[in-house]
Amino acid sequence: MQYTSTRSNILTNASQAILDGLAQDGGLYVPSSIPKLDYRDLKNKSYQELAVLILSLYFEDFSNKEITNAILKAYSSLNFTHPLITGLRKYDADTYFLELFYGKTSAFKDQALSIYPYLLKLAMDKHQIDHLTILTATSGDTGKAAMESIADVDGLSIAVLFPKDGTSPIQKLQMQTQHGKNVLPVAIEGNFDDAQNAVKTFFLKHDTLPITSANSINIARLLPQIIYYYDMYLRLHTDEFIDLYVPTGNFGNILAAYIAKEMGLPIRRLVVCTNENHVLYDFFKTGTYDISNRKFKVTHSPSMDILISSNLERLLYFMFNDKEKVSKWMRDLKENKSFSLSKEETNKLQSIFDTQMCSNQQTYENIKDVFFDKDILIDPHTATAMPQTKEDTKRVIVSTASPYKFPKLYGQLFDLMDHDDFHILNEVELKTKEPFPENIRSLESAKPKFNLESSLEDIENLLLKFIASGDNYVF
Ligand SMILES: *Cc1c(COP(=O)(O)O)cnc(C)c1O
Repeated sequence: MQYTSTRSNILTNASQAILDGLAQDGGLYVPSSIPKLDYRDLKNKSYQELAVLILSLYFEDFSNKEITNAILKAYSSLNFTHPLITGLRKYDADTYFLELFYGKTSAFKDQALSIYPYLLKLAMDKHQIDHLTILTATSGDTGKAAMESIADVDGLSIAVLFPKDGTSPIQKLQMQTQHGKNVLPVAIEGNFDDAQNAVKTFFLKHDTLPITSANSINIARLLPQIIYYYDMYLRLHTDEFIDLYVPTGNFGNILAAYIAKEMGLPIRRLVVCTNENHVLYDFFKTGTYDISNRKFKVTHSPSMDILISSNLERLLYFMFNDKEKVSKWMRDLKENKSFSLSKEETNKLQSIFDTQMCSNQQTYENIKDVFFDKDILIDPHTATAMPQTKEDTKRVIVSTASPYKFPKLYGQLFDLMDHDDFHILNEVELKTKEPFPENIRSLESAKPKFNLESSLEDIENLLLKFIASGDNYVF
């Protein structure tokens, strides 16, 4: 499998694409074709067996043995508390939650980031690279999951930029208490888009430095996300088409679902679920992506607080197969803050994608309804993806974070408004009997190790200093 850019005819192999992160023309790497994989040939395969089959299709420059080793280390009971890696919980006769939060940091980012360092190390070995620095922008979950997987891995170090006031207190504490001598979380004075832009700009300006990305712009982040869609479908024991509801921010998770559909998984509709930052909702309704005059909001689902949704570029490439057009749209977005598809192109998108938007108030109502109806406590990101229409099709709602990660709304739900997060979480444990993830429980007594802050202007220098220090950064 070769990889090409969404914007020009650059062609490279998987390991080089993993090392680069972003393509040199500013585009994103995509597989040059999407392979087919018939789920009917995969019955009774374990998560790990599916992972080997799927990743072998995409990472052809690694041997089967190398991929199998990486998978067995990544998807093990050391990294996931669920025996099947993900949960599949019935909500009603035709609706399920696909729970992707049993990894080390209790959000779906662990699914891909647990294997990411192994893929990266394999790629470094192939290209004889001894040391790489990973630069990552985060709205809260990616940063922690990436640091957790990279901490104390030889030959790697990682800097994470997160919005100072944009994450939940627990997300911030998770990052600031990170162990490891090769990690650096930095609070920036800006929002997630500023963080993502700083990282992308840095990559393009310093493309000769030994750096890469752990964001879903990296194929090593994106492609392992296909595994859980196959696994979920096989566990449903059906041959029917299903609809998928995906809480969406940077469009990585739902793009992996789209790729699974293109590979042959029977998915009927993909529903792009957004919060009050509903630029994607408007785009899928109208065909126009417009960020001018749009105010960035901090919502109950901070990991979806994004206006510039990077992986949409990949979808546009897959759907319309026209690199010149993709380049033009991305130029328009940069220069004029908007781009528009034609009516026909919009229709084509809408033949596969539906969209819905969930206000802060509705997010709370959904959590409350699901809890009092079914005794299931969902997190606010998952709550944005509760179906808003009735359909006859089987539906799967992608549950992207543990409720223990975002306690704020449960204070209201359980009448504990004046209590702190950990008091509320202890109450959640009593009321739900769901195990309190140790990684979050232990935060109550943890002391922050890092409190570095940076203005947007100072980020470049700070990153240069961090990269130059290699393995020897001392705080
Ligand atoms: C990252 C994240 C999302 C958004 O996923 P994308 O792949 O960026 O669309 C949704 N929910 C949670 C909890 C997340 O951490």
